[in-house]
Amino acid sequence: MLWSGWGDPGKAADLPEPVRKLLHDVLGVSPRPERAAELGEVRLPAVTLSSPVRAELRGVVGADHVRSDDEARVRHTRGKSTPDLMRMRAGDGSDAPDAVVLPGSHREVLEVLAVCAAHRIAVVPFGGGTSVVGGLVASRQGFAGVVALDLVRLDRLIAVDAESMVAEMEPGLRAPRAERLLAGHGFTLGHFPQSFEYATLGGFAAARSSGQASAGYGRFDDMVVGMTVATPRGTLELGRAPKSAAGPDLRQVILGSEGAFGVITSLRLRVRPAPEERVYEGWRFASFTEGSAALRHLVQQGVVPTVLRLSDETETMVGLARPGEIGASPTGAGCLAIAGYEGFSEVPALRERVAAVLSGLGGVPLGTDPGESWAHGRYSAPYLRDSLLAAGATVETLETAGFWSNLPRLYDAVRLSLHASLGSPLVMCHISHVYGTGASLYFTVVTAQGDDPVGQWREAKRSVNEAIVAAGGTVSHHHGVGRDHREAYATEIGDLGVEILRGIKGRLDPEGILNPGVLVPPGG
Ligand SMILES: Cc1cc2nc3c(=O)[nH]c(=O)nc-3n(C[C@H](O)[C@H](O)[C@H](O)COP(=O)(O)OP(=O)(O)OC[C@H]3O[C@@H](n4cnc5c(N)ncnc54)[C@H](O)[C@@H]3O)c2cc1C
Repeated sequence: MLWSGWGDPGKAADLPEPVRKLLHDVLGVSPRPERAAELGEVRLPAVTLSSPVRAELRGVVGADHVRSDDEARVRHTRGKSTPDLMRMRAGDGSDAPDAVVLPGSHREVLEVLAVCAAHRIAVVPFGGGTSVVGGLVASRQGFAGVVALDLVRLDRLIAVDAESMVAEMEPGLRAPRAERLLAGHGFTLGHFPQSFEYATLGGFAAARSSGQASAGYGRFDDMVVGMTVATPRGTLELGRAPKSAAGPDLRQVILGSEGAFGVITSLRLRVRPAPEERVYEGWRFASFTEGSAALRHLVQQGVVPTVLRLSDETETMVGLARPGEIGASPTGAGCLAIAGYEGFSEVPALRERVAAVLSGLGGVPLGTDPGESWAHGRYSAPYLRDSLLAAGATVETLETAGFWSNLPRLYDAVRLSLHASLGSPLVMCHISHVYGTGASLYFTVVTAQGDDPVGQWREAKRSVNEAIVAAGGTVSHHHGVGRDHREAYATEIGDLGVEILRGIKGRLDPEGILNPGVLVPPGG
């Protein structure tokens, strides 16, 4: 993973000429004079972790598994939001941990937590490092140091219960390897977020991730049937049946807890048979309103493909729905929807039923070309972000969700807020996840970088968070809370909700060492 950008440097994407021209002519983007910092130029804070504490940590995980070298510290600094990348490109490593600790077992995680609690060291559980909401930045205030707890060594498929279709897997498994291991047993998780190449199972659970095939396979939190969690107070074993009426479901307390309540060291996950058929197709609708109504009817009638998404007019025009062909405007006017089917012999009949409903609601079939092109380029858009940043554009994404009846209001509120903050940005949107009762809206924003691009985006983000909550939406459908959504989340759940969060944290993590500043508002 590129330390100051996204993904495999070998896959870096150059900006097509039409996009450069569009950026310049429409948004006034011009290249920045300063060059991006090299890894060796990143400014890091002095290490505050004492030698005896480092020796204790080495005693737990082994000398090779405690690292304080500059590269390890840089690679565990923040996540992959656009401000994160802009700050790294500017050589700002001020949030770097003092050390990176790599435990090899649940017992070692418990022991590391005990050492850190005894010495008041903040601990940041670290999966793939792809958080886009500031979930990997611990507050140093009041702590003797900060440790990144990298879970990469916890990477085994422990067991497969084929009869129940449940796999026990460790949290440090990155998604592609998890899929390869499951494929050996004929199964899939079916979790394909755009961060698929680098994100881990633990991170998916801790941040309540949702993949591009969520219409068919469900969100990641739907897949979790059990968990083992290491906390500073001991071990929590959760989930002894798929569902239970034995009180509130404590699995739901850990799902979405973003490392602030405990460290997930094992997951029991519902798996599905690996599909034999995969078909993706495109549909055109005259407008976003018409397309949204068609998607709603489809899911409310229970005729649901595995992938279902709809780009608005702007996103369709720019061609972001087919990131491999950005700027190509492949479908002409209107809005492009993608319907994908992953399964077995039922696929042709389901396709026919979907086609009948969509055609009856104004959809025009575009065949499999747009669908296959989307599937082919589905992980390539993040690579374009690096080129856009280098070209002087800020490009960032944000997402929300709401009930169908409120979706138009939410859509307008986000766009209005972004225009008010950023002048005339390019704002694109798609419906990314659908439910019978509502959907998620995923926005991509492109604007010219101001003199202080990080401050410019921080202000825009603060306003848009407020606008989302005021318009009745949730501040996150699948990116989580981190630090960036913490205030808006507190507004969503109210004072009593915040008190509950603080109560749980106080019970599981009395010294407050786990991801301080993330998820739970300080104070109280
Ligand atoms: C280019 C890009 C595309 C993305 N696309 C999507 C998408 O399509 N869908 C989506 O849902 N998200 C997406 N994301 C966001 C991100 O990938 C998800 O939030 C993902 O769940 C994070 O996984 P991770 O392993 O990288 O976790 P990290 O970023 O390492 O951690 C995320 C949070 O979880 C905590 N954590 C990590 N592991 C554990 C553990 N084992 N126990 C307890 N806490 C833990 C961390 O402390 C942190 O607060 C995208 C991000 C990027 C950069």
